[in-house]
Amino acid sequence: MWPMTSAHAEIPQNKQGHPGSTPVEALTAAVNESFDATLASLEDLVAIPGIAWASFDPKELDRSADAVASLVKAAGMEDVRILRCNKPDGTPGGPAVVARRPAAQGKPTILLYAHHDVQPPGDRSLWHSEPFVAEERNGRLYGRGAADDKAGIMAHLAAYSAVTKVLGEDFGLGVTLFFEGEEEAGSPTFRTFLEEHQELLRADVIVVADSSNWKVGVPALTTSLRGLVDGTFEVRVLEHAVHSGMFGGPVLDAPTLLSRLIATLHDDHGNVAVAGLVSRDEVAVDLTEADYRADASVLDGVRLAGSGTIASRLWTKPALSIIGMDVPAVDVASNTLIPAARAKFSMRLAPGQDPEAAMAALKQHVESHAPFGAQVTFTPGESGNAFSTDTTSAAARMALWALGESWGVKPVEMGIGGSIPFIADLLEMYPEVQILVTGVEDPDSRAHSANESLHIGDFRHAVLAETLMLARLNAEGLAE
Ligand SMILES: [Zn+2]
Repeated sequence: MWPMTSAHAEIPQNKQGHPGSTPVEALTAAVNESFDATLASLEDLVAIPGIAWASFDPKELDRSADAVASLVKAAGMEDVRILRCNKPDGTPGGPAVVARRPAAQGKPTILLYAHHDVQPPGDRSLWHSEPFVAEERNGRLYGRGAADDKAGIMAHLAAYSAVTKVLGEDFGLGVTLFFEGEEEAGSPTFRTFLEEHQELLRADVIVVADSSNWKVGVPALTTSLRGLVDGTFEVRVLEHAVHSGMFGGPVLDAPTLLSRLIATLHDDHGNVAVAGLVSRDEVAVDLTEADYRADASVLDGVRLAGSGTIASRLWTKPALSIIGMDVPAVDVASNTLIPAARAKFSMRLAPGQDPEAAMAALKQHVESHAPFGAQVTFTPGESGNAFSTDTTSAAARMALWALGESWGVKPVEMGIGGSIPFIADLLEMYPEVQILVTGVEDPDSRAHSANESLHIGDFRHAVLAETLMLARLNAEGLAE
């Protein structure tokens, strides 16, 4: 049970320095008034173990979609649907909840994205409380999905409710809610879903509320994500294996030559040595080496690779890893010269890097560095685009303003070294859309791990920030 409204510290209502058209005080009061109800709804959602993996009961996922749809209706949306597409193998994808409020004449449309499916709980013994029973301890709400990403859903709904309540008839912004039901399973039908519902989901601005803030008390807009290319290269040196005693010496074996080729991919400092890749130094904030070493579990004595700030090495420079090799396993190794060996690479790309150009640059490098004239075959694999926000766009400026206004602290423009693959799908489908990546998490939220939690104070700030952004976008539109 959630206690009285006084239990969770309210945000002071005397905000200064905001654009006159946005009634910050009234919106803050509306968020504060309904905040305990918002948390209670989040607690109800946490109780439903909706997991989109094939090994879990799909009825729970349907129950999760139904519960979300009810909350969407309660928030005042009339057109609410539960939709799904089939996967390539014919089995059904996860149920998405989509709701729409058409834009008034001349107003833009904003799509608010989050996902209602969650990660499995994992090892129960690692949890300090039941994963599917929300529990408040020390200002945090614990439970699977309490942060990732049921809090994203509740932030969208609470913001929508507050803004419609305060602005009433003046609220003409088009709003589409898109709550996916299979994100933690890799969004297998996302692309098909976009193609089938392209008009239903069309928007001018998309808010993806599935990232993190900088730390407790400091908001962030996630302004860049790296792209990715992968594939294999194979080195061939003999037509077949031969006796290593009879023939070894005048010719080197394929694993040795493959290793020499792999060694050319980085310079002596550990920078990626492939020519022609986009690489940038400027980042707005940095991480400390100590934090990085601890988070990545780097062993004592191991020197870090690359140059520039840690953040630029993670966010705005390429990173090239060998993630698998085909060579004989040690247990079955025999005394022969191995004729062929193969490696799989995974290369993260800086924002602004065209994946095709990166793939071509790597192919060129690998083919031109064939050691001892060995035959090298390069086979491209998957590729995904990097993402970066134009922080001077009207939508990004409003988001940064709203984050700063709500927290009372300048927001951090943060990069993420990984990728959110479906963002590339959104951009391909809607090339003109402005995408904002926000979040309710903080570095201690432990999404996907045991004891996942949400910082309740920051959650309130996140709800208010989105409320303010919706109100300002409604008032000013997207005109530069
Ligand atoms: Zn998520």
